[in-house]
Amino acid sequence: MKKISKVVIPTAMALSMVLSSTALANPQSNPNGPYIENEQNISLSSYLSNEDLAKTLTKLEASSKGKMKLEVVGYSNHTLDGYKTDVDKGDPLYLVKFGDADPNKKRVLITTQIHGNEQLGTEAAIDIIQKLSSGGKEVDEILDKVSIWIMPRINPEGSDNQYEGKWYPTRYTHQAWLPENIDLPAGTLAPWYYNADGSERAQNNNGRIVYGIPGYDQNRDYNPNLDFRVENEDKEEIAKFLNSRTTNNSNYGGFYVTAEARTVTGVFKEFKPDVFVDVHHRGFNTVSDEDNRSVPVQFAAVVADPYTDPFTGDKYEVDEDVLKLGKQVNALSAQALQRGNSHFGAIQKYPDVNLPGTALGAFALNDSAIMLIEIKGQSQTLGQKQAGMLKETVKVPLYEVFKGLADGSIHDVDPALYDAIPESTNRISDPTTRD
Ligand SMILES: [Zn+2]
Repeated sequence: MKKISKVVIPTAMALSMVLSSTALANPQSNPNGPYIENEQNISLSSYLSNEDLAKTLTKLEASSKGKMKLEVVGYSNHTLDGYKTDVDKGDPLYLVKFGDADPNKKRVLITTQIHGNEQLGTEAAIDIIQKLSSGGKEVDEILDKVSIWIMPRINPEGSDNQYEGKWYPTRYTHQAWLPENIDLPAGTLAPWYYNADGSERAQNNNGRIVYGIPGYDQNRDYNPNLDFRVENEDKEEIAKFLNSRTTNNSNYGGFYVTAEARTVTGVFKEFKPDVFVDVHHRGFNTVSDEDNRSVPVQFAAVVADPYTDPFTGDKYEVDEDVLKLGKQVNALSAQALQRGNSHFGAIQKYPDVNLPGTALGAFALNDSAIMLIEIKGQSQTLGQKQAGMLKETVKVPLYEVFKGLADGSIHDVDPALYDAIPESTNRISDPTTRD
C-alpha cells in the first residue's frame, strides 16, 4: 500500500491541539502499534518455513485418523496438466481436504498467503486444520454437513524468498515475463501486475529493496473467465490488448500466467465452494475520530463490479443469493469478534475496490460467496508481534462460519449487519513516518 499523507489540519484546530497537552499525551491508537523501528531486526523465526509447513501438514494428516486428506495439487512453477514457467525450483501447493466435493454438503474453500509476505493466514490455517483433524463432537457435527478445503500458502516462492542470505518473504511470485514462451510476439508488454526488477517495500518500511527476482502479483492473475488460457487465445488480439495501457490494467481480469493461479482455479472449479475465504495482511487504522481502538482486521464481501469479458463479450455478475450469503458470512464473523469494548471487535470493512483479477473477485463472479480477511500489519512492519491475538481474529470467525453453515443458522443472520460495519477510515501512516 502507498503511504498516505496526513489530512491538513485547519489552523485553529492545530493551535488548540498544540495548547492541549492531553491531546498530545493520547496514543494515536489503542493498543498503539506494535511498530518496529527502522533499524530493529524483525523476527520471523516462529513462522513456518516451506519445509516446516510440509512436515506439519504430513504429521497432521497422519494423526487425523482419516479425517484429513493432504494432496499436492500443483507446483509454483508448473501445473499438473502441463503448464510450465521458466523457474527451475518448484515448491508444492498443498490442498488439505476435510470431506469431498459433495454437492449435498456446504463447501468452504480457504486460501492463505497468496502474497508471500502475509504469513499469519497460514499460521491460523494450521491451527484450524489441527482443530478439525483432532475431531470431537462439535467438529464431527460440522464435518458431517460441511466440506472444508484449505490451501495454506499458495505463494510458496515469495514466502521462501531469500535476500542477502536471509529469509526475506515477499509479496510477489518468482517468474519472468517471456512472451515468446507463450507464442506471443517478442516485445509484447507484460501484464500490468508484473514486477520486472523484483523490488518491494523493505522490511520495517525502510525504503525499497531490490532482491532481483522478477515475478507477479498472483492476486491479479485470476480471471472471471476461469477457462481463460493464453495459449488457446488469438495471439494477435492478446498482444494488442497487452500493448495498450487503456486495456492492460486492473479493470480487467488477469492472464493466468502463473502456475499458482491456474492451480488454485482448478481446485475451485472442482470443489464449487459455497464460500471462498482469502486471508491477507494490510496496514493500520483506528475505528474513527472518536474511537481510537486499533483495527485488528478488515472484512469484505464484495471486491468486484459486474464484468464483461473483453474477448468473449460474456457477462459476469454476483448473484443476489450469493451476495446475501457473503454478507451473512462477513457479518457473522464481525459479530463473533465482539468482546465488550475490546479492540478485538474493532472491525472495519475493507475499502471499496473493483478487482476482477483477484481470486476473490473472479470467484465471486462465479457463484461463490466471499470473505476477504485483512489482518493488521505486514511482516515488514509487524514481524511476529501480536501474532497470537491476530490469529484469533481469523480462527474465531471462521469457526463460527463453519458452525453457522452446518446448522443452517448462517441464513438467519441479518445481511444489514454487514452494511453497518464501519467503513475503512483513519489510516495510520506507516511507522517510519508516524509522529
Ligand atoms: Zn495481500
